[in-house]
Amino acid sequence: MGGKPLDRPESSINPSGGRPIRDKAQKPFLQLVGVTKMFGGIRALHRVDFQLEPMKIVSLIGPNGAGKTTLINAVTGVFPPEEGRICWEGSEIAGLPPHRIASLGIARTFQLEELFPSLPALENAMVGCHLRGMSGILATGFRAPWSRREERTLREEAHQNLEAVGLAQRASNPVSSLPLGERKLLGIARALGLRPKLLMLDEPAGGLAAHEIEKLTEMIHALVKKGLTVLVIEHNMSFVMSISEKVLVLDAGMKIAEGPPEAVQANPRVIKAYLGDEE
Ligand code: ATP
Repeated sequence: MGGKPLDRPESSINPSGGRPIRDKAQKPFLQLVGVTKMFGGIRALHRVDFQLEPMKIVSLIGPNGAGKTTLINAVTGVFPPEEGRICWEGSEIAGLPPHRIASLGIARTFQLEELFPSLPALENAMVGCHLRGMSGILATGFRAPWSRREERTLREEAHQNLEAVGLAQRASNPVSSLPLGERKLLGIARALGLRPKLLMLDEPAGGLAAHEIEKLTEMIHALVKKGLTVLVIEHNMSFVMSISEKVLVLDAGMKIAEGPPEAVQANPRVIKAYLGDEE
């Protein structure tokens, strides 16, 4: 990236560096009020209200087509909503470009990671760090001294992020040689390069074996201890129910339930939405 550095969020932490935890008595962290998103005639989100508190693990669930990805896309600025407000630490962010929203401390991973298969894990993890880098393409191309210094720093930070997800020993392995579970962890390491306050994980447990899910769970808890907030979109219900402090359920674009996992699991509207989906 060229030119100006992206802002570093004031109270963000470097998850691998273990900086202290944010002040809990802050304004609402992430708040959605009446968020509506249309795709042609399809109402993908309909007046969704939702609030996220810092340092929590919250899951977003719902049957296929419920609007989960659309909600993430609305928050990250990919598809801004037609109606409603999205506030981040008290300021409206709906309508800001995605890179600006990312620079405020909101990062996400993808279901199918857009990693570079032939490059080593470390270089892939560096992509996230580079998005905050100062050096322009010319400086990097001419190997300017400040660009080399920055490169070293970013490399070290990417290494720490690999460590944070338990992949330090895979730093020089090409992505194509990593199993699915490790590729998912690498996607998280890359997102950590943005030094986010909020990390949204799109189906982190999908396709993983039980022991990999255990590792993932430990790693998410460790990140939250260091100050991150994690929003998980997931179809794996046992993972959702064991890891979440709160669960938000969407169905056909509408919020149908929100609360502690046990209450959500027993909610007749939720049961109906899922049974309806299976028929
Ligand atoms: P899944 O669990 O299957 O990933 P989801 O809950 O993430 O589903 P979304 O992908 O948000 O659901 O889709 C919600 C609705 O919006 C669906 O009807 C979908 O077809 C529609 N939709 C989503 N993105 C687009 C788009 N870019 N263009 C048109 N329609 C879209």
